[in-house]
Order: sequence, then structure tokens, then C-alpha cells
Amino acid sequence: VSHVPSTAGPSIASATVLVRVTGPDRPGLLAGVLSLMDRTETSVEDIEQITIRGNLDLNLVVTVRGERDLFKELLLFGWEQGITITFELVEPSHTPMRPGIVVTLLGRCLGPSELGAATAAIASGRGNIERIIRLSREPVFSYELQVTGGDVDQMRSALLAASQQHAFDVAVQREGLHRRAARLVVMDVDSTLIQDEVIDLLADEAGVVEQVAAITEAAMRGELDFAASLHERVALLAGLPESVFARVIERVRLTPGARTFVRTLQRLGYRTAIVSGGFTPVTDHLRTELGLDHAHANTLDVVDGVLTGRVVGDIVDRAGKARLVAEIAAREHVALDQVVAIGDGANDLDMLAAAGLGVAFNAKPAVRAAADASVTVPYLDAILFLLGVRREDVLASE
Ligand SMILES: [Mg+2]
Repeated sequence: VSHVPSTAGPSIASATVLVRVTGPDRPGLLAGVLSLMDRTETSVEDIEQITIRGNLDLNLVVTVRGERDLFKELLLFGWEQGITITFELVEPSHTPMRPGIVVTLLGRCLGPSELGAATAAIASGRGNIERIIRLSREPVFSYELQVTGGDVDQMRSALLAASQQHAFDVAVQREGLHRRAARLVVMDVDSTLIQDEVIDLLADEAGVVEQVAAITEAAMRGELDFAASLHERVALLAGLPESVFARVIERVRLTPGARTFVRTLQRLGYRTAIVSGGFTPVTDHLRTELGLDHAHANTLDVVDGVLTGRVVGDIVDRAGKARLVAEIAAREHVALDQVVAIGDGANDLDMLAAAGLGVAFNAKPAVRAAADASVTVPYLDAILFLLGVRREDVLASE
């Protein structure tokens, strides 16, 4: 073993230090701190900063090699700027970025009891909350919690129990690049994008409200499947002029927040689609009206401007919706786990399951139980918060 020639002097002890800067925020504080570090040849391992109501909390992990002047310089700088700077020796090994989860909390009221229940649920699954971001105060409160470690399934079920007990919405998603990438949002139409059920509006125009309601109830009792109930209900519309759709479209009411939701998604680069167990005249209208990228629904047979009471081609039912989601995703070159599907009915269960994020929107209990996330506030744009979009960003894009 020969000597290893070395030009280095005796090894200089190095220390890893957490530098914490707190106080009233003002432009140039971070730049000032960094220039002192630059001058003293300090290397910066990590920076995190938050500002709440004008108060700065800046944390830097730095490695200091023998050059202790940094601390004197920083204390002087802090004194000059009227801010507090503290130092703490920390472990040199940096904290690895563990893949974590993102927990979104949503509610009309998210006070100490709701937030306490949610954080206790995370703690019960041994998760560690690394960061909390407030996304919105209006029309609902929402927070995003970044959590690492712990048992995800345990946290998920504890959070679900807490959310039911304290009446707030919760979504648990794996953190990852897919959350940042542009994605595809596929929505159900009736009672999701719009407040109405189009078949009921058509029945009203045709004067067959009771008959249609009876079939709907039979389907809900499980006596008829969707396809059979669709065929029976459409048969009742035979003889209606095609022009009935102009009146139905006038009566359709968008869900509150629908325009804001779609517009914000578009500005963020999302593709948007609707898949409906309803009918193409309405979905085609909505596609044009909102500038959606895709719209699919059932096509009614029309002869000489009159509905024949038959459906043309494949019907869009529960399986059909899931198939369409896969087809649209493939056409848009978006992986299924980057698809967000939103719906309220049993018909939507398969597409919610197929999507990376299935959102039950003011849905029936069975749908809520099966979905990845459930939103019970009546604003469609509240779903933006599940995607990590802040209210300020929504307003800025208006
Ligand atoms: Mg629906």
C-alpha cells in the first residue's frame, strides 16, 4: 500500500446546521442570507420557506466547513433586518424524499375539531405530516396535507371514519409525478355536470313523467338493469318531435362551479370529457357550450324529425362508461392512473374504479363507499382542490 498523495490539509471538521430565519417578511431576506453563505463558502443542502400573513419562516440546512464566521455574520444581518436567526446542529445525512401521500380535507367548516380528528387519524396510522397548505377559504375550506411514512390503508380508513364523524370530505392520494402532469378529467353528466336528469326533463315534455318515474324506481330496486330501463324509458318517448331537445337544453341547469371547474382545468392543460347515460343532443350542446374535448352519450333514433323510441348503436351503460374512459385516455395518450373520473350514480362505479382518481360527487352511499374520494359540497369546482389547485390560482385564471 503506497502513500496516497494529498494536497488537502488536515481534515477540517464540518458541521451540518439548521438555520432558521423568522420574522416579518420583506423582499431580499433570502437573497441576503444566501449571499452571506456564498461569501463564507457554506454549502446549502436544503431550503424550505413558508410565509403566513407577512411572517416569514425560512429554514436552511447548511454544511459549514471550519468557517464559523457565518454565524456571526448571520446574527449581525438578523439584527440589522429586525429578524430572528437561530442555529441548531442536525444530522448530516439528509432526509431522503420518501414517497408519501397527499391528504386533502374539504368542508364548509374545518376548525380545530375537524383538523384535530384528521391529524389524529394520520397519527394513528403512524404517518408524519411534513407540510400543510391551505388551498381555499371559499366557497369551502380546504387543506392539503403532505404525509410520509405510516400505513396508508390504516390512515385511509381512520381518515374516512373521522370525516364521517365530523362531516368533512377527505381524499387520500399517492404523491407522485402523475399529480403534476396534465391529466384527463371525465365527468358524468346528469346530477354531476348538470343538476338535472335529462330523461326526467324529456318525460315532462312528453307528458310521461309517472311512467318514466316508475321505470326508474324499478331500476333502482334492482328489478331492471340500466340497459333494460333505458330501452323502456326511451320507448315512452316515441312520437316526440326531435325539436323537444331545444326546450330540454334550455331547461338544463349547470351545477354550481361547473364553468369555473372546466375553464380552470383547460387553463391548466387538462383534457376534459363527458360520458353520459343520457342523450347526444344534450351532451353535444354541453361540449360546444363548455369547450369540452370529448362527449359521449346514447344516440336516439330519429326518422323524419320524430323520435322512434329506439336507441341507435351501443348503449352507454355502466360498462360502456368505463370502456369510453379507457378509449378517451388512449386517444389522449394519458395513462389511466392520470385520469380523474367524476360521477354520482351506480352507473359510474366502473369508470370511477378504472380511473386513477375516482371522485364521488354528491353521490349515493354505495358510490361514495367505492370511490377514492367523495365530495359532498354542492360545488363542482371544489374538485379542483383535490387536484392541489389553490383558490387564488382559480381566481387568477378567471
Ligand atoms: Mg349521474
